[in-house]
Amino acid sequence: MSKINIKISLILLISCIFILSACGKGEKVTGSEGKTLSVGTEATFAPFEFMSKGKVTGFDVDLLNAVAKKAGYKVDIKNTGWDTMMAGIQDNSIDVGMAGITINEKRKKSYDFSHPYFESINMIVVGKDSTVKNAMDLKGKKIGVQNGTTGQMASEKLFGANNKNILKYETSAMAFMALENGDVDAVVTDNAVANEYVKKNPDKNVKTVDDKTNFSSEYYGILLPKSSSLKSKFDKALNEIFDDGTYTDIYKKWFGVEPDIKPLKAAQE
Ligand code: GLN
Repeated sequence: MSKINIKISLILLISCIFILSACGKGEKVTGSEGKTLSVGTEATFAPFEFMSKGKVTGFDVDLLNAVAKKAGYKVDIKNTGWDTMMAGIQDNSIDVGMAGITINEKRKKSYDFSHPYFESINMIVVGKDSTVKNAMDLKGKKIGVQNGTTGQMASEKLFGANNKNILKYETSAMAFMALENGDVDAVVTDNAVANEYVKKNPDKNVKTVDDKTNFSSEYYGILLPKSSSLKSKFDKALNEIFDDGTYTDIYKKWFGVEPDIKPLKAAQE
């Protein structure tokens, strides 16, 4: 082989390595089938996601595993926290967000969502002796919410954005702790999470108060980057899981009752 030929071969070899490594990266970001998707969550949101024996567990974890499997992916779920999860999807360092995340118009401007997989509504948690009967009774009272969530949005809609009585915490668990400490008079958060907290903490003397007039129904979706190629695959997989009984099994495992899948399907766009 002449010197020139060796040079050309070397250049070709180096270009091949470059192209191959670039492909590898591209696959990770767009998540081709068979790949492991990196998933962000905020694991203090039982029964949807919480830490148990060092592992993220919950309804969302089981559901995402089932959806991803049907779509041909593996998942690696990390407890990133809410803000890191939301930012990570936007800068493509995370492929998927799963944390009881409500689909709303504001978020839809920056993210894609899968079809709805759970219906939720905000709920109030107060001390057992509280006289609060509905959301309007919270006027002038200190309300704890998780920062950046629909609990904050719903409270601000009623009492004004930047209202000093709305105290924002990093997680719902921290808002509950503030209630226990007497730093706030009430917590506004998603109903299933409020119910789970009250059920699991009989010693804390807390109760839930619902208000279907001042709070409205919301749907959770799997959070994806804008224009993600995963959306159509996840939507298809979710519908398969609705139809083949997998969703029902997971729902019964965590909530002990049969799910009502019809309204979820009716809410698909
Ligand atoms: N469903 C609420 C939201 O999306 C709360 C989610 C959460 O705290 N994990 O804003």
